[in-house]
Amino acid sequence: MPTNPYLDIDRLMLGDIHTSSETMDNLTVLCDDFGSRFGGTPGERQAADFFRDKFKEYGLKKSRKEPYRYASWRRGQTTLEITSPIKREISCIALPYCPSANLTAELVSVGDGMPRDFEAAGRKLRGKIVMATSGSATGHRFVHRSEKYARSALAGAVGFVFMNHYDGLGPATGSIADNQEAIIPGISVSKEDGSFLQRLMARKGSVTIRIKARNRTSEKTSWNVVAELPGNTHPDEWILAGCHYDGHDISQGAMDPVSGMVCVQEAARVLQKYAGDQLGCGIRFIAFGTEEIGLIGAKNYVAQHADELDQIRLYINMDSAGGGGRKGIVMHRRPELDAFFANARAEMKYDMPYGQGMSAFSDHFPFFEAGVATCGMGDVEGVFTGRGYGHTAHDTLDKIKLADLREASSVLSRLLLRISCTKEWPTKRWTEKQAERMMKKDASLEIVKVEADLVKLYRRRNRRGRREKNHG
Ligand SMILES: [Zn+2]
Repeated sequence: MPTNPYLDIDRLMLGDIHTSSETMDNLTVLCDDFGSRFGGTPGERQAADFFRDKFKEYGLKKSRKEPYRYASWRRGQTTLEITSPIKREISCIALPYCPSANLTAELVSVGDGMPRDFEAAGRKLRGKIVMATSGSATGHRFVHRSEKYARSALAGAVGFVFMNHYDGLGPATGSIADNQEAIIPGISVSKEDGSFLQRLMARKGSVTIRIKARNRTSEKTSWNVVAELPGNTHPDEWILAGCHYDGHDISQGAMDPVSGMVCVQEAARVLQKYAGDQLGCGIRFIAFGTEEIGLIGAKNYVAQHADELDQIRLYINMDSAGGGGRKGIVMHRRPELDAFFANARAEMKYDMPYGQGMSAFSDHFPFFEAGVATCGMGDVEGVFTGRGYGHTAHDTLDKIKLADLREASSVLSRLLLRISCTKEWPTKRWTEKQAERMMKKDASLEIVKVEADLVKLYRRRNRRGRREKNHG
């Protein structure tokens, strides 16, 4: 067993974390005072100011808000009505970036909406409203809402209905476009209402529905909030730890995302207090804006800091990290870091799940695409079957346990300390070519190809729109 060269600092940091309620106090303000913090709400700005001020209060350097412009979305009224063979209104919500619409078409189910379900349906989806559940078939890779929506639009569907696969949690939300109005309307229903629609289709054959939606997409400003602990021996190198702070407008977004953000704050607090003068490279703490509607804050950070990306040792993404489950590291395709983390785990005497994995659906991804080493906090040994109460109205403060916040904060603080103090960091930024190659061979990044096809569809429609305008 390796001895622990950081034992004194570990004891101070963990002793403080485990005898303080700072994480839960911050989480309470974020959820109960500021609400969802969804892009464009007053709570979003309050949260950004709160992070900036807290980082300052904790003694971090250069705490600031970095603004950027984006397409903000606001929901209006949305209704779903069965028009044939019966008449009935079903409760529903619009998915973020759903355009205004008044649309009547036949409803078709693709079950869980696996790629093979779309292949089997083929041309039958053209002109129809397609319904898919939020679940993924047993044994199949997890298929994200965005992929089901994109495959529907690509198959010629005119609308999309997302059906929750959990009992009693109402409809699940999630955006259907990135930083722009979506190409076809998308709405969401509960498992109970979706099951009713499925039974109706099975018994009566053909079911026609009408979707009426009034929503608004308009340009606004959001912010990433950034603060630093400078390095001593390697001041030009950085580790980044971050999490988004916007939730969805229908909930408090307690677990997803800010259970993770308060751990980023906590790590900043204890590292400044007990390790500030002993850091090797610098640590940058980031609260990302508007992740839920297209990773917009992280994309802007990567663009605004393009000339610093070579200097980043690792970005640790803490999205939702203070929820339940074990607190380990899912490393994104960097086996050359395995030995470092194996050693850290042994010297920390902490049973930390660690392994290689990948997903395209959080703020690490724009960094990954740019070739920066990234990882997330999570349990690589766990099997992801869905979000549970995440992305529903039930993602509220009462679900979060102080013990989970403390554990995630402890793991993050200890890892940041070790990464900062390592003299030789065993990996570096990929070239553009290397990054491209990694993306291509990764089955969990299938979504990237599907979304590239969807972008072509947007372009075709925009060209058609312009032609029609010119002739009209
Ligand atoms: Zn999230």
